[in-house]
Amino acid sequence: MTDILWFRNDLRLYDNESFSRVVKSNSVILIYIYDKTLINRNTVSFYHLKFIDDSLKDLSNELNEKYNASLNIYYDHTLNVFRHLSEKYQIKNIFSNRVYKERASQLIDNDCEKLFLFKGIEWVKSNQFGIQISHRNRKTWSKDWRMFTSKKIKPLIKSECNFIHDHNFEFIDVGRIKNDESKYRQSGGTKAAKNLLSSFLSSRHQNYQFLMSSPSSSESSCSRLSPHIAYGTISIRDIVTRLNLKIENENNVDKKSLTSFKKRLAWHCHFIQKFYDEPAIEYQNMNRAYDGLREDSFNESKFNAWKTGLTGFPFIDACMRFVRSTGWLNFRMRAMLVSFASYQLWLDWRLTSKHLSKYFTDYEPGIHYSQFQMQSGTTGINTIRIYNPIKQSYDQDPHGEFIRKWIPELTDVPDSLIHEPWRLSPAEELDLGIKSGNNYPSPIIDNGLETKRARDKIWEVRKSKYARDLSIAVVNKHASNK
Ligand SMILES: Cc1cc2nc3c(=O)[nH]c(=O)nc-3n(C[C@H](O)[C@H](O)[C@H](O)COP(=O)(O)OP(=O)(O)OC[C@H]3O[C@@H](n4cnc5c(N)ncnc54)[C@H](O)[C@@H]3O)c2cc1C
Repeated sequence: MTDILWFRNDLRLYDNESFSRVVKSNSVILIYIYDKTLINRNTVSFYHLKFIDDSLKDLSNELNEKYNASLNIYYDHTLNVFRHLSEKYQIKNIFSNRVYKERASQLIDNDCEKLFLFKGIEWVKSNQFGIQISHRNRKTWSKDWRMFTSKKIKPLIKSECNFIHDHNFEFIDVGRIKNDESKYRQSGGTKAAKNLLSSFLSSRHQNYQFLMSSPSSSESSCSRLSPHIAYGTISIRDIVTRLNLKIENENNVDKKSLTSFKKRLAWHCHFIQKFYDEPAIEYQNMNRAYDGLREDSFNESKFNAWKTGLTGFPFIDACMRFVRSTGWLNFRMRAMLVSFASYQLWLDWRLTSKHLSKYFTDYEPGIHYSQFQMQSGTTGINTIRIYNPIKQSYDQDPHGEFIRKWIPELTDVPDSLIHEPWRLSPAEELDLGIKSGNNYPSPIIDNGLETKRARDKIWEVRKSKYARDLSIAVVNKHASNK
């Protein structure tokens, strides 16, 4: 009899419960599947595939060095892989860590579940995040999270088991599947993750809580661990353990920033919990009273301008061009991009969310869709915050350095007008050789007018009895865990 370890979004050997379990078996096949359906969706990009590719290479090398074992990588439909394996070998158990991904992934899991049942194979699932699976109790959530993260990390154990090599795999040509490219992207793999954590804890975290909001400073002062957490090349428990040691034992650290960072790690699991409790938030409003609000107002030219960084609002466009070129953006700027799309442009979050999931290397449905709904006002329970992109521009990029870097059309615009280039007088345009709406577009909307219009529309629903009644159910299900 043979067991299978199915690596999914847990691409590491250490602190991996499924791996610890399986190395005690007699005979094991270690597998990873690039599911053809999942990776060919247009929400998956070069950023994700390259990150996975790096991580698999790292994992394969470590397996080879430490266990003389090989990782069998398949590029096929998941069900085909399991059909093939269950016909060729006598499979007893399949071990894997749970994943909390979109409906498409859930449907594949449902089909696998049926196949395993039919073949008499047991699917043994572990949990790698601090969430409540069966005993859901909001009152004990935080306590349970702390218990989960304080559990000791087991060292890697030696194994006598026979690791089966099933087939050879040439790493897939990502460029062939996705023809987008980028000069900059984040590297995957456990080594890269550990290096990031070390540099963040040793020095980069200083003033994190103040530097995280500006798009320029946040690039190095945020941890940048999000894609590693999403693909499991590092464990949340490991991050929290090392963070606690730092906070408790060292004097020359910025404790306020580290505490603020720790809070965000708990938020990560809080949002995964929300998605586990209600996966429908991927495609329907959390509060159904907001149904019908934006569905019929889709405006393709506004959507295209937003997607391509050509709205005429320099800070919005710089942020969009930045995320498209790097695969990452800080929290505040993500929130601003979404708020602008959902309010001033009145676009449905179901369309805009798919565009950004392609460019977020760290795309994590539980966080992504909750945040999209929060920033679009469709939860009915969060404060309505409509970001003013002009104010954000003055606050977060006072000298326009970030704008000039990402919008070369505005290189010569002086500091005083970089946030609102439409205020250039004809004489200034002539002097600088700039013609508003020529090199760079004029604003596609009137910010003040559209902000007011959006606020009125959202409040009309929010104050209705129907919306207020439904909000109570949302609070009961999703409000912050105690
Ligand atoms: C519209 C929108 C969509 C988002 N989509 C995603 C997504 O798909 N994947 C994702 O990981 N984050 C998402 N975020 C949250 C946040 O922007 C990113 O986690 C953060 O920018 C990642 O960079 P970092 O690892 O350097 O963060 P750090 O500031 O160093 O934070 C450390 C970790 O804490 C967690 N975290 C931080 N902020 C949040 C938050 N607000 N909610 C939940 N967890 C948080 C992440 O796991 C992050 O890696 C989204 C935010 C918004 C507003």
